Amino acid sequence: MDLDMANKKYTLNFTGDVMLGRLIDQLYPTHVPSPNDERHVRVFQARHASRLGFRNYTFESPWGTTLPLLATEGDLNFINLETSITTHPIPWPDKVFNYRMHPANAIPILKAAKIDFACLANNHTLDFGTEGLVETIWTLKQHPATPAAATPKGEYRVAFAGAGETAQEAFAPAILSLPRKSNIQQEMIGDRPSVLSASTLDSATPNHSIHVYAATDHPHAWRDIPTFHFVDYTPKSREHLKRLIWKHSPAPEIRSSESTPALKIFSFHWGPNYSWHPSTEIRQMAHFLIFECGIDIVHGHSSHHVQGIECPAPGKLIIYGCGDFVDDYAINKEYRNDLGALYRVIVQEQSDHGGVKPVRVEIFPTRITHFQAHLLQHFRVGGDGDHDWVVDTISRLTGELMGTECGCGYTHEDMTGKEIVRPQLGDRGQLIIDLI
Ligand SMILES: [Zn+2]
Repeated sequence: MDLDMANKKYTLNFTGDVMLGRLIDQLYPTHVPSPNDERHVRVFQARHASRLGFRNYTFESPWGTTLPLLATEGDLNFINLETSITTHPIPWPDKVFNYRMHPANAIPILKAAKIDFACLANNHTLDFGTEGLVETIWTLKQHPATPAAATPKGEYRVAFAGAGETAQEAFAPAILSLPRKSNIQQEMIGDRPSVLSASTLDSATPNHSIHVYAATDHPHAWRDIPTFHFVDYTPKSREHLKRLIWKHSPAPEIRSSESTPALKIFSFHWGPNYSWHPSTEIRQMAHFLIFECGIDIVHGHSSHHVQGIECPAPGKLIIYGCGDFVDDYAINKEYRNDLGALYRVIVQEQSDHGGVKPVRVEIFPTRITHFQAHLLQHFRVGGDGDHDWVVDTISRLTGELMGTECGCGYTHEDMTGKEIVRPQLGDRGQLIIDLI
């Protein structure tokens, strides 16, 4: 354990699916034309008119009472954006759900919570075809040609990975600066966000480069779209991922501090809906990313409900399924897709190799109510049983993952069977899991 208490710590927040389209989009004055959805929303609004914050649904509203954790306490915030951002009218054919939100709403909503990174590798970014994908990307980049480019150039952009205007852009990592520089999150080199150049840094604050990759294993129909990062569990996909990740992580003797990632994150939209346990191929892929590709944090999502956490080696974290964070979905009573969590990962600077290392994850249970994410309170302080449900479910599933081998053969450094979940909750009712 090389933990030096004097070394600086940072807070990275991770959420699962953020779906701001369909009914949520209709709550805003500017929205994509969808008379059916609009009618639904007007009925909801009339029925729940007395609910605080519901009638006047603002750009801050989707984040509900989680907003301070993101906007004030988060050094960097990472989400899976489960919708396209476009007014393009033609949906991808033969798909059950096609989501889109109006470009005018995207940046103001994401900016309200200071979202730094959006995963675009998921089963909705192409819901309105490649035209819709390009508009999604231009909106996030604040391209001058988009109607959403309301903020001055360079003021706020959301980094992304997993889909792009080119294959290179879809595969390459988003590069974030930790700490984020106020107002300007990343400088653009060409069309890609990049690390701030040394001259623009405050010399008193060490800056770390954080690399974030993203990929998905579905839908199959999009696997041959070159600007979409589809992977499967074949040796070929593994080779591709290993080559890609090491290409962006230069060997110690040739790397400079600027190009060296201090932390590598992989955001993965994977697995079937509604299954408590990740499949063996998913677990083995997570372990491959950690042990063969040097990934530090696997940010998993797609299941629509919370799954367990695994710490396969000290300072390494796998969140298999974050659950849904905010959306307009109907509720599944068994899997409780309305319940989720905000995952706060504490990373600490390391004196020996200059990187940052995950030391702890704090899990704040949430519930989606009236198109808003709300922090749940423990029943002792006025909450209900849902807080316990999230805490108990994640604790149980984490214990099961830590207690079983997946058969991948990598060294687990004595972590198997280790109790990583603290028996006591934190002072804000959060579940605490130690990673070292
Ligand atoms: Zn999805």
